[in-house]
This record gives sequence, C-alpha cells and structure tokens, in this order.
Amino acid sequence: MKQLPPDTVRLLSSSQVITSVVNVVKELMENSLDAGASSIDVKLENYGLDRIEVRDNGHGIKAVDTPVMAVRHFTSKICSHEDMEHLETYGFRGEALGSICAVAEVAVTTKTEDDDISTQYTLNFTGDILSQKPSHLGQGTTVSVLKLFKNLPVRRQYYSSTKKCKEELKKVQELLMAYAIIKPDLRLTLVHNKVVVWQKAKVADHRSALLATLGPSAVANLLPCHHHQEQLELFIDGFFPKPGADHSSTSSSTPDKTFIFVNNRPVQHKDIMKLLCHHYIAQYLDDPGRNRYPILMLKITVSPSSLDVNLTPDKTQVLLLNKVEAVLAAVDALLVSFYGCQPSSDPPAEKE
Ligand code: ADP
Ligand code: MG
Repeated sequence: MKQLPPDTVRLLSSSQVITSVVNVVKELMENSLDAGASSIDVKLENYGLDRIEVRDNGHGIKAVDTPVMAVRHFTSKICSHEDMEHLETYGFRGEALGSICAVAEVAVTTKTEDDDISTQYTLNFTGDILSQKPSHLGQGTTVSVLKLFKNLPVRRQYYSSTKKCKEELKKVQELLMAYAIIKPDLRLTLVHNKVVVWQKAKVADHRSALLATLGPSAVANLLPCHHHQEQLELFIDGFFPKPGADHSSTSSSTPDKTFIFVNNRPVQHKDIMKLLCHHYIAQYLDDPGRNRYPILMLKITVSPSSLDVNLTPDKTQVLLLNKVEAVLAAVDALLVSFYGCQPSSDPPAEKE
C-alpha cells in the first residue's frame, strides 16, 4: 500500500467540495456577503466554464491575510469549533477558495478601506500567491475563476453539454434570486457573455425583494405571516399564497420558487417542503393534477447553537438539533391558521 501524493489528495478532496458552476458562484457570493457587501456582480463566460467573476464592495482582504486567503483551512470567521455555537457567517471551513484553486485558475483583486489602491493576486494549485500587481478597482474583492475543471476532463465535458450549460445558468439565477429575497438591501446583477441575464436593485424589505425577484403577479397573491416562540428562540416569517389562490410555479418538476431559509441560508428541507406542499395542495384536493410546488418564502430563525450546517459540503442541508419537531409543529400550526383548516389527508409522498 502507498500513501497518495499530496497533489492527488488535494485534487480528490477539492473536487468533492467544488462540484459545479453554481457551487462556485454560491461559495464566492457567500464570501462577499460575509464581507458585508451591499452590491455583488456575477459575470459568467461560456456558462461559467471559461470564466466566473464575482465582484463585491465588501470590506476587502487585509494585505497581511492575502498570503493565506486561499490556503485550505485558513479562515477569518471562526477560531475553533466552539465558535460554531454563535455562527453568524455563511462560511467557516476555510475550504472554498483553496478548493477552487485546485480545479481552476484563480485571481483575487482586493482593496480594504486602508489601502490606497487594489492589488491583484494570481494563485496557484495550492492556493499560494504566484504573482501580484497593482490594480485599479475600488474597495471590495473580485474573484475570477478561469477554466473551471480544467484538470477534471470528465466533469468539464459533463458541464459542457448544451442542456447542462442551460440548466446550470438557470440554477445560478435561482441561487441569486434566493439571496435577493433574503437580503433585500443587496444589489445584484447576473451577466452571461456580456448580456445582463437578471438584476435586482437594493430594496427596503422582503415584500419588495419578492416583488423585484418574482414579479407583481406572483407577489399579488402572497400574504405575510409571522410566528414567534420566545422560549424556543424560534422565529418564523413567511409569505404564503392566499388561501384559494392558484399560485404554483410554472415549472412543476422542481421546487424552484419555494424559497426556504434557515438562519438566512437557502436550504432544502424535505420535511418542511412536504408540509408546505401538503397544506398548499390540500386546497386543491379535488384537482389531483395540481400536485405542484407553491411559490412562497419561509424564513426560519433559530439560535445558531441548535443548528448544524456542516452536513454537506454545499451547506444546503441543515440539522435542527433537538428542535426539528418544534419547528415542524410551529410551521404546521402557522399554515393551519393561515389556510383556515387542517388538511384532511396525510401529506403526499415527496416528489423526486
Ligand atoms: P471561509 O469562507 O470558510 O472562511 P474561504 O476559502 O471561502 O473560506 O475564504 C477564505 C478567507 O478569505 C475568508 O475567511 C475571508 O477572510 C477571505 N475572503 C474570501 N473571499 C472574500 C471576500 N469576497 N471579501 C473579503 N474576504 C474574503
Ligand atoms: Mg467561504
């Protein structure tokens, strides 16, 4: 038996963390949000396979931190596992930038408020600085990712098919929409091959963010509702389709406009989704063809100490420690009071 060479280990583990174009965009956007950005521009070329660029106006990276900014397991967000109890940031593992460097060519341009000018750094396979030069950008950070999966030919080929490219672009847009909804004061743009695909200006609240993201006809049917359980430190805010409103996503195969957030993270939660669909669909039991996902927003906030967000590399699955029953019961009660009656049948089986 032989130990694998370090470069092979790095490539194998990085390619598990960085799995797709949308995954890169998510990691870079979350870094921008963690840096306090109020404006983020995402630019893709050739559906992200040739270039992904995320530019923000956040606090930037201090010169003293730049040598380790993309070295794996270096992070400015936590110091030890105990800090997870109070986690307020999207990132904490110090894995994304380093992993991206192992599967693409990466450049980071950054300027803090103390710097006179920005500096552009090019990084190598291990996330170390290859070269640096002065640059002209304003405060914030721009990360450019070129030739994604250049050393993973099967994966690059897989994402190069026209069908997959278009799917990924749609997923990137849906991802941006989720952040647009949960962060109303964020300005966002998505540009593909120099054409603006989608954009959203800074707005005042979630309703305006929903309006800017989903359009007036979708939002006209949404009503707000709230629930708060002080002893559980549990807050639920939702915008649900009016009782009786025919209001499901036109794309019926995926829950692409059912936005669920836990502590501001867009998440997929099978049991919550089941409940939402059940209550929504229960209004249409006489019409079995209406087995579709509702357009809605559900925002759940719990204390960070009862949340495990480290289940999957992309952090879209969460464990609500000791609370899942209480959260599901609270969401259920909110939906019952909102829709006026208890649905009469068992929740339908989850659609794949
Ligand atoms: P993590 O987000 O888990 O800390 P990353 O590899 O994504 O790990 O980022 C490493 C570090 O680089 C971050 O902790 C942060 O200090 C810095 N960083 C990355 N992107 C940005 C950004 N857009 N603005 C400011 N700092 C950033
Ligand atoms: Mg990060």
